Amino acid sequence: MVILAHPDDPEFFLGGTIAEWVKQGHEVSYLLLTKGQRGVSPGYPDPVDLDKVRVREQQNAAAKLGVNKVDFLDFQDGYLVADIEARKKVAREIRKTRPDVVATFDPLLIYQRGRINHPDHRTAGQIVIDAIFPAVGNSAFFPEFLEEGLLAHQVEELWLSVPVEANFELDVTQNWQLRLEALLEHVSQVGEPAKFLEIMETKRQTRWGEEMRYVESFRRLIL
Ligand SMILES: [Zn+2]
Repeated sequence: MVILAHPDDPEFFLGGTIAEWVKQGHEVSYLLLTKGQRGVSPGYPDPVDLDKVRVREQQNAAAKLGVNKVDFLDFQDGYLVADIEARKKVAREIRKTRPDVVATFDPLLIYQRGRINHPDHRTAGQIVIDAIFPAVGNSAFFPEFLEEGLLAHQVEELWLSVPVEANFELDVTQNWQLRLEALLEHVSQVGEPAKFLEIMETKRQTRWGEEMRYVESFRRLIL
């Protein structure tokens, strides 16, 4: 279960890993906490109903990777707060889905290489972590969930994407093209496709001699 802030976050942060999970036969679903109403690339015509556009783009991008279950919560893009209301809503969704592995953003990443991380990204990570422990696994938290038939659930692993300090890496070079195809489904975000693809090429990392590889890094917690 991939839980992040905005449409396009899954493909940008861990698209290669998601593609790998699907290939290996795992059931993958997304939960996006906002519909990305405020995010648009420069030059995209001022869109009416941007949230509807972005929901559709996200469904198309997910489908490219083989993910057909994409859910959204109704928090406002840019205004995400790690409060009890958010924790409860996310905890409810995790108890419904009952995932073995949850992937989200590392909430400790405030800035990196001269760039400020979007506050929604780290806030989403904080909300997810606070939901998993202790609320999802302890039936004394949000007892009304029991009346909804949502029993406590133990998540086994937490994968924090774009971590401050990685302890796990996946070489997902073989999924590079598929990830790019999925990203291009986010038409309102990528701008001119040729230019976008050129920028993306610099994101590959050189490893193992001269060979260009694409690696996704995580802080992986076995709970
Ligand atoms: Zn985002």
